[in-house]
Amino acid sequence: MSLAEAIPEIPNIIVPRTAGVIALDPPPAGAEAARITARIKALLRERDAVLVAHYYVDEALQRIAEETGGTVSDSLDMARFGHEHPARTIVVAGVRFMGETAKILNPEKRVLMPSLDAECSLDLECPAERFIPFCDAHPDRTVVVYSNTSAAVKARADYVVTSSIAVKLVAHLHRQGKKIIWAPDKHLGAYVQEQTGADMLMWNGACVVHDEFRAQALELLKTQHPTAAVLVHPESPAAVIALADAVGSTTQLIEAARTLPQRELIVATDNRIFHKMRAAAPGKTLIEAPTGGHGATCRSCAHCPWMAMNSLRALLQVLETGEREIHVDETIRARAQLATQRMLDFAHDLKREVMGHGDA
Ligand code: SF4
Repeated sequence: MSLAEAIPEIPNIIVPRTAGVIALDPPPAGAEAARITARIKALLRERDAVLVAHYYVDEALQRIAEETGGTVSDSLDMARFGHEHPARTIVVAGVRFMGETAKILNPEKRVLMPSLDAECSLDLECPAERFIPFCDAHPDRTVVVYSNTSAAVKARADYVVTSSIAVKLVAHLHRQGKKIIWAPDKHLGAYVQEQTGADMLMWNGACVVHDEFRAQALELLKTQHPTAAVLVHPESPAAVIALADAVGSTTQLIEAARTLPQRELIVATDNRIFHKMRAAAPGKTLIEAPTGGHGATCRSCAHCPWMAMNSLRALLQVLETGEREIHVDETIRARAQLATQRMLDFAHDLKREVMGHGDA
């Protein structure tokens, strides 16, 4: 069977269902924003809850997480933080798979989200009912899925990975002679394959935000900012990655912004990351990578429409009502936990290895 035959037909265009929500829910400002923020902080204390926010959510929510002992991070660290924090309730400001991951790792805790409709195009493009038969048709392959997948897809996987660890984990499996099924992001998969040389059978999903960055327009922008460094998330197309000075997960890009010597940085990922990037690299100029140009539709304009559903009002509502709780079927959860825990164990071993080398 050729690779093309093996990959199932997947609709490439997912139209986010959130445009109307964004239009109907303009963010509160001034005194109203301050009142809602104070109420959210009080409710977090009263409800023994901790706010775990992704870099891509609104700056106001990121600040609340920072100021109340929560965290702002990538999906790997969000999962780790929620697992280790003693609070009985975890409020996940992000998208649905992040809430599910928190529940997978913390079945005894209550996991709430500002919106249960906050999806992810990668998750939507890889439904379990199509993915499971695809895996069953290739029993000789180790199944590695990106964390941007449903609990049911994770339950069919051998390993879950995040973008911060994908290259290292696949390289490790490749050294063991394992052939791989990779899902769902085709761009990240191609990048991992190029970095590791692994034999990877690829699913055909894409992120609506990163898929929109365009190499031609980026080259043009570079001519206007010839000394700028280009920072790219590997969910972007290969031609965009090829122009990068640094490629990495959100946390790795923030670190690159801090350490690279260039004073101007062109950033190809969701623009809400600028809040943390500015703090990490004060005095540097951050420029959004272009989502326009030949072939672009600007369905996202560098901000995830589902992440945008995490509004201040929605966060207040979920804390007031206790509704919008994440539930995961226990059989699926237990299986998904195995694949997720393998990633956490691998990350832990890696960290120990690095620290061990550092000590030597
Ligand atoms: S930015 Fe892309 S990968 Fe992240 S949640 Fe949105 S659609 Fe999914």
